[in-house]
Amino acid sequence: MDRVAQCIAVPAREGRALRIACGSRFRIVDVEGGQCGDLFAYATADISEYASAPHTRVHVNRLFPRPGEAFVTNRRRPILLLERDDSPGAHDMLVAACDPARYAALGIAAWHASCEENLRGAMRTFGFDRIEVPQPINLFTNIPIMEDGWLDWRPALTQPGDSVTLRAEMDCFVVISACPQDIVPINNRRPTGLALEVLA
Ligand SMILES: [Zn+2]
Repeated sequence: MDRVAQCIAVPAREGRALRIACGSRFRIVDVEGGQCGDLFAYATADISEYASAPHTRVHVNRLFPRPGEAFVTNRRRPILLLERDDSPGAHDMLVAACDPARYAALGIAAWHASCEENLRGAMRTFGFDRIEVPQPINLFTNIPIMEDGWLDWRPALTQPGDSVTLRAEMDCFVVISACPQDIVPINNRRPTGLALEVLA
């Protein structure tokens, strides 16, 4: 059993960032179940290099890596390895992070937390005011492609304590956002928290 060296609680609707060394392993845990997590990773040496969904799809020749396969950067270098998947295995790498314009389009007049703002806030804690906002690695996000090509925004299938374990393939900044989406049902309309556990 892996020992947890550090546990960072990611409160509902918020994001957290961590600097991870190459070779370090970490786990994203869906604490209460039914919660999507938007994961981002940027190379510490140069944040213009980041985990890229379209490059990863080419690298693994699939919509999402399987355990043992890597997420690669926009320069096609491995940045994170998907080591274990202790969840039902429904993840997404097609839909953009939620952002203020998305909530405005959904009819929300007031400010609403979003994964894009969580990402920007988390990277600001490392001093980065201007960042690229890549297509996220949408963990636990259950948006299957249906027979005629439409996307079905379904509730996450995860149970409390379900997790994915990743290994950093280069020094990187990792950001995880507990998606605040409560208008469409991907978080069962009840956003909850996640945990980021660094493994010994
Ligand atoms: Zn979101």
